[in-house]
Parts: sequence; structure tokens; C-alpha cells
Amino acid sequence: MHDDWLRQIEQELDGELSLPERAALARHLAGCRHCAETRVSHLEMRVAFARSAGQPHAHTVPRPAIRGRTLGLWMAISLIAGAAAGWFAHVQWGGPGPTSLEATRALFVAQ
Ligand SMILES: [Zn+2]
Repeated sequence: MHDDWLRQIEQELDGELSLPERAALARHLAGCRHCAETRVSHLEMRVAFARSAGQPHAHTVPRPAIRGRTLGLWMAISLIAGAAAGWFAHVQWGGPGPTSLEATRALFVAQ
């Protein structure tokens, strides 16, 4: 139920809603604090995007810009997670493990 309204909020902010749809959304927002607050935070997020794009007075923010930045954020998070996992593995098993030591010895013997 609310998910439908949240989609409507996205479309409204993109300027894609017709007048009757906007009226229905406005009526729901007047009685639904949850959706009203979501709309405010979506708007504030767009303001932040517009500011960072150097267009603080833009009327709308193109969605690809939002998607691209969100993607970049997720990539940064996964990079940090990967580095943390590598650090954890290093702490857990130390530097070169017994396997690589054996391999080095075998190589030495072979020579
Ligand atoms: Zn609602």
C-alpha cells in the first residue's frame, strides 16, 4: 500500500505525475506521516544531489545521476568490505602460510 505511494512520490519528484495523481498523492500525504516524511527525505536527497552537481536551484534531478552516484557509493562500500575481508584473512592465517613455505622448500630442493 505505502510502496505504491512511495513510487508515486518518486514520479511526482520527477515531474511525471498527472494533476489527478498529484491530487491523490497530496491527499494521502496529508493524512500519512510515514509517506510525508519519506517525501521530505527524498526531496532533501535531491537537493543534496543538485548542490553537489553545482545546480542548487535545479527543478528536477535526472534519475541517472542519482543511480550513478548510488552505484558509486555501493562500489566504495564493497571495496572497503573487500579490504576488510583481506585484512581479516591476514590476521587469521598470518602472512605466507605453511603451504607456500612447503612450495618454497620444494622449489629450493628442485634447484
Ligand atoms: Zn502512506
